[in-house]
Amino acid sequence: MAKYIFVTGGVTSSLGKGIIAASLAKLLQARGLRVTIQKFDPYINVDPGTLNPYEHGECYVTDDGAETDLDLGHYERFLSIPTSQANNVTTGRIYQTVINKEREGAYLGKTVQVIPHITDEIKKRMLELGKTGNYDIVITEIGGTVGDIESLPYIEAVRQLQWELADDDLLVVHLTLIPYLKAAKELKTKPTQHSVKMLSESGVFPDILVCRTEEPINEEIKRKIALFCNVKPEAVIEAVDASTIYEVPLIMMNEQLDRIVLKKLNMPDNHEPELGKWKEFLNKLKYPKAKVNIGLIGKYVELQDAYKSILEAFVHAGAMNECKVQVQYIHSEFITPENVAEKLSSLDGLLVAPGFGHRGIEGKITAVKYARESGLPFFGICLGMQMAVIEFARNVLGLKNAHSREMDPDATEAVIDMMEEQKKVTKMGGTMRLGAYPCDIKEGTLAHKIYGAVQISERHRHRYEFNDQYLELFEKKGMIASGKNPQTGLVEIMEIAGHPFFIGVQYHPELKSTVENPHPLFVHFVAASKIFNENKSAQKAPVLQSELG
Ligand code: GLN
Repeated sequence: MAKYIFVTGGVTSSLGKGIIAASLAKLLQARGLRVTIQKFDPYINVDPGTLNPYEHGECYVTDDGAETDLDLGHYERFLSIPTSQANNVTTGRIYQTVINKEREGAYLGKTVQVIPHITDEIKKRMLELGKTGNYDIVITEIGGTVGDIESLPYIEAVRQLQWELADDDLLVVHLTLIPYLKAAKELKTKPTQHSVKMLSESGVFPDILVCRTEEPINEEIKRKIALFCNVKPEAVIEAVDASTIYEVPLIMMNEQLDRIVLKKLNMPDNHEPELGKWKEFLNKLKYPKAKVNIGLIGKYVELQDAYKSILEAFVHAGAMNECKVQVQYIHSEFITPENVAEKLSSLDGLLVAPGFGHRGIEGKITAVKYARESGLPFFGICLGMQMAVIEFARNVLGLKNAHSREMDPDATEAVIDMMEEQKKVTKMGGTMRLGAYPCDIKEGTLAHKIYGAVQISERHRHRYEFNDQYLELFEKKGMIASGKNPQTGLVEIMEIAGHPFFIGVQYHPELKSTVENPHPLFVHFVAASKIFNENKSAQKAPVLQSELG
């Protein structure tokens, strides 16, 4: 049977529970243990798929097509193992299951209540992954902050499990904040004391406290926290601000978090974590030899979390290229044919981001045109690929009315159209084309060079697709479909041969980039941007196919 670690948070939100959970998991995995992480979110949405990115940031999609919290992205990026629907549970999903069971008559006339029915359903899901036999340790991150009304059933479920499982099969890590008061020049422990007290009042007694702090915590403060919060002094872990999230596993290792966990879980501690590849990555990340400036064109640019996986994929690809990737956000609504050259002049590469709805799309199309004509490396993801298709149709094929059915339901030249299976969809939640699908790659293309394979699998989240009726026309003029779904023929990759780097993909490669396996599309895009930058510095113009005749 697996052992269970619960991670709760106190004092404020945004302390980085996901990163602490992922870092601890990494250390345990690097000791040879089989670890997974799951997240329980206290909101009533069944999943974050229907949430605006401004609410909770990007929606992360797993291989099995679950629309999940962005913390699952961190779990995969740190552990390099896939997560699934089972790794993300919300209050909405719990209640939906319980209510469905009630309608089926499964409760045999009993009054259905938060305790025991909701908490039983929570506990069942908390233990589920551990029962598969695939893991030695299951880490569960409880979303929200201790003291929130909506987190209470989860804390109660942990309380019951603390009582039901053996002492060495479960532990609770509580993440808190030790604020530094500049005026008093002091670190303050009171908020931590209060949050541990609140957790204890619910019957959950943390075994380990991880204390987020801007300033190092000395032994005296650690002893004070230990005394007031009823934990051993060595179980008070300092988590001082890091320059990158990828440094946190090493900081936690120095603080012996993994060792204390193993001791409490009564597990052997016979060798140090094996983190060679991780350290190599960190070294490259910290000491880049070059720099590129990549423009990210989207409409949620005010909120970094909206493009979390894309930003992290650039971190991985940058390190691989020993190059710092500076991402410059550009709001598509403010790009016009008049200002595009000036706005994009400092870029070495252009990424047009995924998205929904018509806002800002003309700016995206204008930006793609500039990249296509000037030889600026271009990478379009999902909506970004669709915009590249519309741009090519309008400006190269002369289809002046070319559009996507999403933006113009009456389009006469819908080069991007609604997928057949989407036409019967009436509900919004969980109804897009979601999750992993295979893709066949045409040999000799840029996509083939990038992947070094003829069959790949990538994750999806969309309703619209390239309209196959136009494919011949596109290919005649030089924009080719280099990747297609083997069963349906659905176009997955479009590229322009002869351009230094111009590729659009209907899927989301950013979701599969990890520290130990950076995504090849990002790696090659950064490499192409690096070359563009070097040529720019040497005042060499990019070579376009048209110029070669
Ligand atoms: N809105 C587009 C579609 O549904 C693109 C989606 C996306 O970028 N994820 O097809």
